[in-house]
Amino acid sequence: MTITKLKDYVGGKWVESQAKTTHDVRNPATGEVIAQVPLGTNADVDRAAKVAHEAYQSWRTVPAVQRARYLFELKHLLDKNAEELARIVTTENGKTLDEARGSVKRGIECVEVAAGAPSLLMGQVLEDVAKGIDCESIRQPMGVFACISPFNFPAMVPMWFFPFAVACGNTFISKPSEQVPLSQRFVFDLIHDTGFPTGVLNLVNGGKDVVNAICTHPLIRGVSFVGSSPVAEHVYKTAAAHGKRVQALGGAKNFLIVMPDADREMTLKSITDSAYGCAGERCLAGAVVLAVGDSHGWLREGLKKRAEAIQIGDGTKEGTMMGPVISEAHKKRVVGYIEKGVAEGAEMLLDGRKAKTPKEGYFLGATLFDNVKPEMTITREEIFGPVLCMMPVKSLDDALEISRGQPLANASSIYTTSGKSARNFKYNVEAAMAGVNIGVAAPMSFFGFGGAKGSFFGDLKAHGREAFDFYTDRKVVISRWD
Ligand code: NAD
Repeated sequence: MTITKLKDYVGGKWVESQAKTTHDVRNPATGEVIAQVPLGTNADVDRAAKVAHEAYQSWRTVPAVQRARYLFELKHLLDKNAEELARIVTTENGKTLDEARGSVKRGIECVEVAAGAPSLLMGQVLEDVAKGIDCESIRQPMGVFACISPFNFPAMVPMWFFPFAVACGNTFISKPSEQVPLSQRFVFDLIHDTGFPTGVLNLVNGGKDVVNAICTHPLIRGVSFVGSSPVAEHVYKTAAAHGKRVQALGGAKNFLIVMPDADREMTLKSITDSAYGCAGERCLAGAVVLAVGDSHGWLREGLKKRAEAIQIGDGTKEGTMMGPVISEAHKKRVVGYIEKGVAEGAEMLLDGRKAKTPKEGYFLGATLFDNVKPEMTITREEIFGPVLCMMPVKSLDDALEISRGQPLANASSIYTTSGKSARNFKYNVEAAMAGVNIGVAAPMSFFGFGGAKGSFFGDLKAHGREAFDFYTDRKVVISRWD
């Protein structure tokens, strides 16, 4: 099999990267190399930024209603090719086909919402702010924006950003994760077929050198980042120090609080899906169950039973419930956390290292720990793999207190049949994406998406109405014509 070396998409065509080195892209279900991605340089970012800057001069003058029509066409092509895109996502990321299909659908919904730009971009006006003087606030695009994406949602995450940025009249550079660049290549083929004017949407492949070049390039006005918290913080600080707007979505450690009055079957199913779906490689994955009072007994038994029943295998195969993790290195990292949990005294109820898995690929079974403590590494740090921890607690207030003591606050959920408990949770939880009887509290594309504390750096969240704030500047015009 010949291995394709990927290209960048700049100025409306596929071009060779100026990179000297490449990274092997592997199918995590087999370990097989499926492509090589160039690890681009400053020069690649500079070329794309100049082209995007040039394209911006005319794109910003295209009426919003016409810009939206390109998005309607892109949505049509994405819908038509959704199944193929989902297969690419599974091949390069490992998640099951159903999970990949769901993520593609969520991405396409962003294109739909962004196509509402003509209404959502409207400004405000007030006549007679003083006698005979009118004042208006108008939204204007700013120039070139870029996004930097993680490995876990190769098709969806870039769609949190570029449709909104270009709908607002900006031009764009997308930097996919070097571990999963194939979905973006496919989407850019569709972008090409959509007929967007040259230079409006560009793709630069690479790793941290490209990220640093994006954060410092003078022509790039703003950066959207999604990935781990240390890199999110680095991007936030570097890009802000270079005068850019930044929204940097970081890592997660999501606490699921279960009240004794919760609906047992629904709760067990929801927590199992939350923790082990996408092999735990979701920023909204449940990571620690805080079992309030009597719920501990039935959770212990029920979660173990369900975790043991998870069929592990190639995500493209019928019946597979959990695919591999992304890479050999990541598998080692997750195993390292499991070892740490054992060493720090957590009780192992189910050991994913011993699960029956295919021989090739980066598979790991579901792991379940009980009786973890707030100070343990596996309670505090993001594992990003199929490992669920549980901690018995006395009350909802104790549970909220424990979650408040943690550094990350992306998402959190409560399971209860009590409106009073639900309200207490909603009111007091620090995580910025909160679920009530929902295990994966993922805001849809018309709401903002992003966490709090160490899980988010910036102010405006991804997609929703906030995207129209992030991707525009508000100009105030005060006029007198008497
Ligand atoms: P990562 O931070 O390793 O990589 C993200 C991006 O940053 C990639 O494009 C990568 O090329 C680049 N990068 C990596 N190291 C860098 C460095 N030292 N300097 C500059 N750039 C660097 O993240 P990942 O492993 O690809 O993705 C998993 C992480 O993403 C998890 O922490 C997960 O919680 C997070 N995530 C968060 C959200 C959210 O909404 N908050 C959504 C999805 C994923």
